[in-house]
Order: sequence, then C-alpha cells, then structure tokens
Amino acid sequence: MDKNHQMWSDLGMDLDKHDLLCAALPGAYGDVFLTQENRPQGMDYFNMVAADIHGIRPAELIQAQKEGRKVIGTFCVFVPDEVIIAANGIVTGLCGGSQFWVPEGEKVLPANTCPLIKASVGARLGRTCPYFRIADMFVGETTCDGKKKAYEILSEDVKMHIMHLPHGKRPQDIAAWDKEILDFVKVMEDFSGNKIDIDKLNQAIHIVNEKRKALQRLYNCRKNSCVPISGRDVLLIMQIAFFDDPERLTAQVNSLCEELEKRIKEDVSIAPKNAPRILITGTPMAVPNWKMHNIVETSGGIVVCEENCTGTRYFTNTVKENNKTMEEAASALTERYFNNIHCACFTPNPERIDDILRLAKEYQVDGILNVNLKFCNLYATENYFVERRLKEEGYKVLSLETDYEDSDAEQLRTRVSAFLEMIEANK
Ligand code: SF4
Ligand code: SF4
Repeated sequence: MDKNHQMWSDLGMDLDKHDLLCAALPGAYGDVFLTQENRPQGMDYFNMVAADIHGIRPAELIQAQKEGRKVIGTFCVFVPDEVIIAANGIVTGLCGGSQFWVPEGEKVLPANTCPLIKASVGARLGRTCPYFRIADMFVGETTCDGKKKAYEILSEDVKMHIMHLPHGKRPQDIAAWDKEILDFVKVMEDFSGNKIDIDKLNQAIHIVNEKRKALQRLYNCRKNSCVPISGRDVLLIMQIAFFDDPERLTAQVNSLCEELEKRIKEDVSIAPKNAPRILITGTPMAVPNWKMHNIVETSGGIVVCEENCTGTRYFTNTVKENNKTMEEAASALTERYFNNIHCACFTPNPERIDDILRLAKEYQVDGILNVNLKFCNLYATENYFVERRLKEEGYKVLSLETDYEDSDAEQLRTRVSAFLEMIEANK
C-alpha cells in the first residue's frame, strides 16, 4: 500500500469509493486548468497542492495532531479563524464542492437541499474525504436552515460546536455576536487545553490579516485593463486558502503577485483586450467546483471578480490589531466578521448590493453573472432585489441557477455565450 492509501486507511476511509474520486479529479483539473495558455509561473505551487490535495496537506495535519495540535473544520466565513489559531489550532475549510459526495448526503437529507450541504454531509458520512475525517471538531453556524439541520445530523457522527449567528445587524445582534465570539474562545480553550490570552489572539489576528492583505493584493491585480491571471486560477487559490497553512499561503500569494504586477507593467494579459469582463456574485464555489468560471472563460469572457464567500467576502477588511483586552479583540472581530460580511442570511441585506455595485466599478466589469446553487432559498429570494437594482444601475445581468452536475453545462454555455455576445455587441 502506498503512503497515501495507508494514511486514508488509517483514517477509516472507504478506499474503493475514494479511489473513484482520485481517478476522476486529475482529468477534470487538467481540462479546466492545464489547458490554459500563458499561466503565471507562480501557479506552480497551487498546481502542486491541487495535484495531491488529499495527500500533502492531510499528512501535515495528521503530523500536527501528533504534536498535540487540534484541527478544526469550518463551513462558513463567519467563524473566526483567529480564535482557533490563538489556541494553537489549525483551521481547515470543509465545504464540499463535488457531485461525487452528493448521493451520500441525499441518504440523510431531503433531495431539495443545496448541493453544498449535501456534498459536505456526504463527504463525512461516506468517509471519502480525508479532511472530514481528520478534523477533531467541526464548527457550524446558524446561517441557513439547511445547514442548521444538517449540523444536527453531523453531530451524531462528529464533535460539533455551533455558533449562533443573529440574522440582523441591530445593536443587540452585534452584542450577541461579540458574546458568541467570547464563548467560542472558551470552547477552544477547553478543547485544545491552551489558554488564549490577548497576546496570542493579537498574534493570530496579525497572521490572518496578512493573508487577507495578500489576497487583496491578488484581487487588485485583476482591476487592471490588462488581466494578468484567469478567474479560474484565482478561484483555485481562494479554495486552497481555506485549508492551506496561512503563513505559507500568504508568502506564495505575495510572490505570485510580484509576477502579476510585473505582467501588468509589461502589458501581458491572459485574455484578449476586448474580452467581456465578468463579475460573479452569489453562493460560494467550494473546491472542486470550477464549473461557471470554466464556462465563462472558455466562451470568450474573463472573470475579474467574485462577490461571494470564495471571493471578496473572504478577505475584505482586516481586523484591528494590538487590542488591549479580550473584549476589545472580540469587538474588533465582530466588526470584521459580522458587520462587514453581507450574506443573504441577514435581513435586510442592502449592503450586499452596494458591494456588488462598488466592485463592478472598481473591476471595470462589462456584465454581472448572478450564480446561485439550486435550492438555496436565501440567495434565490434575494435575487429579486439584486437583479432589479443592478439593472436599474445600467448593468447587464444574467441570473443562473445550477448544481454540481455536468448535465446542464451545455445549456449554461449557450446562455453564457449569448450573454457575452450581447455585451460585445453593445461595447
Ligand atoms: S454564503 Fe453565507 S452561509 Fe454561505 S459561507 Fe457565505 S456567509 Fe456562510
Ligand atoms: S448556498 Fe445557500 S443553502 Fe447552500 S449552504 Fe450556502 S446559504 Fe445555505
């Protein structure tokens, strides 16, 4: 048995089933990423991580566990990584982005649940993802109804902590989230056996801020009329950012940015100058969901920005550093994580539309794709306001609903191609 199979077997994984996933991924990856021309060299690191996605990082996590550290799995950008890091823990994002895991999730969930939830539950219960086996504890949050109830099912199989997210942004909601963060500090202290003091928390805030700044720098490169990197590649980097070591990722992204900034100076663009610039807004795109980016970028468009949780919502705004007390640090975390993340689970949520409009200007976009996962009621309903306002502001908007299956790919391609042609005709 090779090293990876031994590790997966020790994790209690279903090896036969998992082999099917391992057999399919390289082909899919090759088709989406390796067919691109003129990719930046800095993508080599991310190619390497993706090529052994269930080998290299899981082995590192297991080694860290042997050294006494806890691995914490999360599903949402509301859970503050800083608290986990301050307890000497390691964060790994757990959202499932493959159809491969969906049928297993459907064994316990209603079929009309969003694919992200079905895949996440399926990856754990089907024992076909090492990250879902390695994590010592999962941290969920009360965002949408599907997730809330799915966490109850997961809690029969794995230790879970749930953060209770208020669904408004009134002063009492802000105070409640402050308290939720301080409670989470206590949970992490008890679970890890490590006291979190203000110095450790400030240090963790700094580490995550540096990662955010690197990702902001990456996105800034896409604002230029010369686009030095494809949307597909940026999406991959964002997906890897959810589970890679934060300091290593920061260094890799910064070094890639040096190359991209040089490309901009030398006018080296990955896309033709007249390619329609597309902003994607909507629900998150968990690894290995590359479907929409691939369709847009193989139909003549270029994705220059994502207003979603695997995009700008993950890194926009930093957390105030050098806090004096735990209470001050909790407020600083609330300011960034609660006040400034505009998920459709809030009511009302007009700030998200303001964000889309601001980003559309900053990234000089020609059209907006509003892409939501099937059965996500929150985003589908909010779409009423999003589409109306964007159109009022003069933007060309196409709203699409999809899942992780390939069966609608051609239909989506037809609609996206018509949208891109319409943009080009009006340019
Ligand atoms: S869309 Fe909302 S619920 Fe989903 S990951 Fe983002 S913040 Fe969390
Ligand atoms: S996409 Fe929608 S339904 Fe799915 S987990 Fe996110 S908020 Fe919930």
